[in-house]
Amino acid sequence: MSGGDNLDFEIRPNPAPVSDADRAVLLANPGFGRIFTDHMVTVRYADGKGWYEPRVEARAPIPMDPASAVLHYAQEIFEGLKAYTLPDGGVAMFRPDANAARFNLSAQRMAMPSLPVETFVQSLHEIIKIDRSWIPEDPEGSLYLRPFAYASEVFLGVRPATEYLYLVIASPVGPYFSGGVKPVSIWVSSDFTRAAPGGTGAAKCGGNYAAGLSAQAEAAEHGCDQVVYLDAVQRKYIDELGGMNVFLVLDDGTLVTPPLTGTILPGITRDSVIKLAQRAGRTVEERPISLEEWRDGAASGRVREAFACGTAAVITPIGVIKSEAGDFTMGDGGPGDTTMSIRKNLVDIQRGRAEDPFGWVHRVL
Ligand SMILES: *Cc1c(COP(=O)(O)O)cnc(C)c1O
Repeated sequence: MSGGDNLDFEIRPNPAPVSDADRAVLLANPGFGRIFTDHMVTVRYADGKGWYEPRVEARAPIPMDPASAVLHYAQEIFEGLKAYTLPDGGVAMFRPDANAARFNLSAQRMAMPSLPVETFVQSLHEIIKIDRSWIPEDPEGSLYLRPFAYASEVFLGVRPATEYLYLVIASPVGPYFSGGVKPVSIWVSSDFTRAAPGGTGAAKCGGNYAAGLSAQAEAAEHGCDQVVYLDAVQRKYIDELGGMNVFLVLDDGTLVTPPLTGTILPGITRDSVIKLAQRAGRTVEERPISLEEWRDGAASGRVREAFACGTAAVITPIGVIKSEAGDFTMGDGGPGDTTMSIRKNLVDIQRGRAEDPFGWVHRVL
């Protein structure tokens, strides 16, 4: 299918949606990724036929043959973004075209068919429209959208599948930090790496997450919230957290973040932070950061703050860094001023409370 084509979604409303009263109870304390809306989007793909049968239908289990290729060789990719209410009562998403573009880069890496950007964005519009009542009213809550695709072909041979299923599900989520932004503690893994040069580090695929679970468990054993990975070659430079990119704030206000060389995920929050900082006249360096530079800089005062960023939490201050070589703390361990002002700047743009200089807010309703 060519890039300009637009699919006509067939709408099959859920005949038994959750009642208003039950939904209100669920939305009072949604947590993260625990509850789901009444509908899902499905679009099928077959070689020679392209994408077909685009539908909005009742959310339901997907019948799956035990020989479905994804269950054996993990040909699967996903995205994550939020829909939320604007001050005027409208509904928006943040940079969904960037998610669409990244979805296709992930597809390319995993030898999967690309999905036209228009179809991706339209599929999000469709689920937001039909499940609008699931968007939390809390000004910090949102409807988390999870588009994903997997190899559905029933075949055990090792080659790219010839059939795929694309879906979108939606999950109302509360504020990421209830009771104020709290810094996370991170564990520097010396046993595990996340991605090697030439590997799948830049693709948003489930396999990367499966491979990171042991490291995450190791971080938890050391009393840390998250794991931070070192580069797989020299075990010296910071790559990223399991699902968030990393920035350091230097004493002169410069931001430093690892470069996109294929082993880290090109975060849309990362890109947004860089563009906003540069626009505000701040210097941003994309270059390797060694753990040693970070530790020495924390001791000398050269590195003042550190934060992680990604769609779910937007920006999370990093407090304590633990590793086998010892621990160190950023500042007094509390959220830094620069981190919090960058966070406020970005969240205010997303939520329609501040001018949107790059046209990132994509209104749906
Ligand atoms: C999704 C993801 C991020 C953050 O990307 P955003 O577009 O900012 O949400 C960072 N690292 C990994 C490994 C991810 O999967």
